[in-house]
Amino acid sequence: MAASGTLSTFRLPPLPTIREIIKLFRLQAVKQLSQNFLLDLRLTDKIVRKAGDLTNAYVYEVGPGPGGITRSILNANVTELLVVEKDSRFIPGLQMLSDAAPGKLRIVHGDVLTYKIERAFPESLKRRWEDDPPNVHIIGNLPFSVSTPLIIKWLENVSCKDGPFVYGRTQMTLTFQKEVAERLTASTGSKQRSRLSVMAQYLCNVQHILTIPGRAFVPKPEVDVGVVHFTPLTRPRIEQPFKLVERVVQNAFQFRRKYCYRGLGMLFPEVQRVESTEKLLQLADVDPTLRPSQLSVSHFKSLCDVYRKMCDEDPHLFTYNFREELKQNKSKNQERENDKERSRR
Ligand code: SAM
Repeated sequence: MAASGTLSTFRLPPLPTIREIIKLFRLQAVKQLSQNFLLDLRLTDKIVRKAGDLTNAYVYEVGPGPGGITRSILNANVTELLVVEKDSRFIPGLQMLSDAAPGKLRIVHGDVLTYKIERAFPESLKRRWEDDPPNVHIIGNLPFSVSTPLIIKWLENVSCKDGPFVYGRTQMTLTFQKEVAERLTASTGSKQRSRLSVMAQYLCNVQHILTIPGRAFVPKPEVDVGVVHFTPLTRPRIEQPFKLVERVVQNAFQFRRKYCYRGLGMLFPEVQRVESTEKLLQLADVDPTLRPSQLSVSHFKSLCDVYRKMCDEDPHLFTYNFREELKQNKSKNQERENDKERSRR
């Protein structure tokens, strides 16, 4: 929020409303691109306030569109706002905002999935990982089809301390389909507990800070929207490579309704499945009859640590793919059937 009363306080001058900007530049939402806009500046102010104190911050906004959230960020007394927008139709409207906030808004016509933010802000902003988060924030209301893969990518960046996290523990405030926001923040044992819950919570402090009803967007999406705030942890709750954690978690949730040993078994080739799954669960001290949703992050930590040791002993294990094995078995069976058929003729 803007620090009122200080000499450096910045407010945008009077501008056409977002609705007028949309009309002026003919920015009708493109359904295929899942564009849903926020026109109510009280609401965008609220989202931006929830991101924390942005005074003198460097902010990276993903998918600014017609610029509602962008205006609220500019009014929060930031030092610099860098926006990355894929749809070129929005650039002239954003340019108008940039003219109204000289030297504060940098516009990039590009794709957030490939844009390299690690080179965009001054080196001097960098903080050590153990220190307080740097004054760098990511804020965005992206289409749901982009925000979910993007958060997985950024979580991997958190674990490697690269990408947006070269500055330190950069905080993120992002919108998701409400159901996804609930999954990201779901606690052990809850109905929404999923792969995303574990992947996000082993690396970050994750908070569902706001729910926005679908009717607040134009056009209205079919679902409500959840705003989620992420602060990377100084020490991840699982200290293993991201890909290894992802593999264990993904397999565990393979069969959500079954006991966890069923999905975890898929980490191992069929010939050794029973024996190795038993070994994994026993050494990790995890009850095989827990459901995947009942596994806590600390259960996953033990599972990942033991699985890591098993992979170190047998490096082929890490590249094993049960789907590949199933496919090969199927084609072998088919060949056998064909041979039998031929010999009968
Ligand atoms: N932030 C605006 C708001 O809240 O009104 C627009 C939100 S709209 C849901 C998503 C925006 O993200 C659109 O402007 C869209 O063009 C943009 N967008 C979609 N995919 C993108 C990508 N890969 N990179 C950058 N921008 C993207």
